[in-house]
Amino acid sequence: MAAKGKVSFNENYCKGCELCVAVCPVHILALDTSRLNENGYHPAGAVEPEKCIACGNCAITCPDSAIKVERLEAK
Ligand code: SF4
Ligand code: SF4
Repeated sequence: MAAKGKVSFNENYCKGCELCVAVCPVHILALDTSRLNENGYHPAGAVEPEKCIACGNCAITCPDSAIKVERLEAK
């Protein structure tokens, strides 16, 4: 069974570069264009967080260390 992950963002570290969006193999990350963080950027977030497979690509890629990925126990 595929691994499950829980991805979380420290929104105010995000500068909206979209690198995380590009490297997510299950395409669940996107910038929230309806909001701005405290630095004036659209913050990245998970659109369908339940589909995260805990690959860690986003956290490794983020130049600002805004993303944390936890691996959840397989059910
Ligand atoms: S850990 Fe992998 S699957 Fe989960 S959001 Fe990040 S890039 Fe996508
Ligand atoms: S890679 Fe980091 S800084 Fe860039 S959009 Fe994603 S969370 Fe924001």
